[in-house]
Amino acid sequence: MIRFDNSYARLPEGFFTRTAPTPVRDPQLVALNRPLAERLGLDADWLTGPEGLAMLAGNTLPEGAEPIAQAYAGHQFGGFVPQLGDGRAVLLGEVVAPDGARFDIQLKGAGPTPFSRRGDGRAWLGPVLREYLVSEFMAAFGIPTTRALAAVATGERVIRETLLPGAVLTRVAASHIRVGTFEFYAARGDKARLQLLADHVIARHYPDATTPGDLLQRVVDAQAETIAGWMALGFIHGVMNTDNMSVSGETIDYGPCAFMDEFRPDKVFSSIDATGRYAWNEQPNIAVWNLAQLASCLVPLMGNDDAAVEEATRIVHSFPERYQRVWLSRFAAKLGISAPRAEDEALIRSLLDLMARERADFTRTFAGLSDGSARDEFTDRAAFDAWATGWQDRIAALPDAAATMARANPRRIPRNHRIEEAIEAAREGDYKPFQRLDSALRAPFDERADWADLARAPQPDEIVRRTFC
Ligand code: AMP
Ligand code: MG
Ligand code: MG
Repeated sequence: MIRFDNSYARLPEGFFTRTAPTPVRDPQLVALNRPLAERLGLDADWLTGPEGLAMLAGNTLPEGAEPIAQAYAGHQFGGFVPQLGDGRAVLLGEVVAPDGARFDIQLKGAGPTPFSRRGDGRAWLGPVLREYLVSEFMAAFGIPTTRALAAVATGERVIRETLLPGAVLTRVAASHIRVGTFEFYAARGDKARLQLLADHVIARHYPDATTPGDLLQRVVDAQAETIAGWMALGFIHGVMNTDNMSVSGETIDYGPCAFMDEFRPDKVFSSIDATGRYAWNEQPNIAVWNLAQLASCLVPLMGNDDAAVEEATRIVHSFPERYQRVWLSRFAAKLGISAPRAEDEALIRSLLDLMARERADFTRTFAGLSDGSARDEFTDRAAFDAWATGWQDRIAALPDAAATMARANPRRIPRNHRIEEAIEAAREGDYKPFQRLDSALRAPFDERADWADLARAPQPDEIVRRTFC
């Protein structure tokens, strides 16, 4: 049993289309996230039973669900698309957790909706497992993110470049409201719905905000925190279109995302990002660009005059300072410095420069600072030693340096080749590599001999160079 309280479905006409999931032939539960079920106040035993599975597959609607596909627009690779919307996701409803927090329960891959255009409304097992692993790793590490409650194999095939096994992901989010949701109404000049949406977002995510300007500031701040968190993990989202940027600040839409092995600031994995628009080092700039789109949407609610434009511009331009502060604290922590000073930036940048020059493994270098093995990641040992001398001087008198580093530098990340390996096995019906990876990524700081292989960098023949949505 689930108690739904569907605030978005209570918004007036025009925010969504009522549409039910399309049943699937032979649903099998691949994964259920028990800790998340508990956090939401849901009964994991019910979810794994026949009624729960039928719901997670989209085969039956639980009482109280009000399935909808949400309308949104978005800038995709810089070009505006006035009509996108949930083309393969159905929002079942919202639940209020025991602590009062509200969450969307969404089925991704639940079949066609009125927004599907030419798509089939489905997802294949690979991206479902990738999103499950990566979003749960992000959560374990403390980066704001949507969560994965369950993965269900549908027993049906989906047609991509070849026939692939279908799956449904149950995605949990503070909300699925995007920058593109605001753009949808702004582009139509629908000021009434824009106001309703702003009111809804304020009540739901930023209850202490009172004006649309406050709202913009909160989204700017939330995104600065999140994106600095990505940077400190070597994470590349891959498709930072405005329809994939949540106003809650949660990381959303794990399509062709990837974590870097070798460090290259301009690294891109996504097969569809030909120009490198969404490269690792572009992400903060793109965030500002996206937030400027949100600002344009909110100007009509801020008075729609020169003063409103000025205020909105000032707020968007507050991103770099906020971002820089979080960036400094995240990267300083990786070096063992819990109370950074402005000069620490130079120390961080000189290590990153050295890492970039040598294409050092991002995760292993930082994790290796704790046990001295970072040096092994470099061929120019003298250059590393010179840097390390300055670093040692800086942290020598800091009693919490070791503990700070240990908390900031994961031993294991969801490496692309490990994800691919887990997906390949799952295609053959073997979910053990997926389950093992999932367990290991939920404890990213633990040293465990039986997980040592998951901390290794890929061998040359294992390197994944391109990712696909
Ligand atoms: P994305 O790039 O994954 O964020 O998706 C962009 C848009 O395409 C969204 O409106 C999605 O709902 C839609 N979309 C993606 N894949 C499919 C699919 N297989 N069927 C229908 N719509 C899709
Ligand atoms: Mg999307
Ligand atoms: Mg997507």
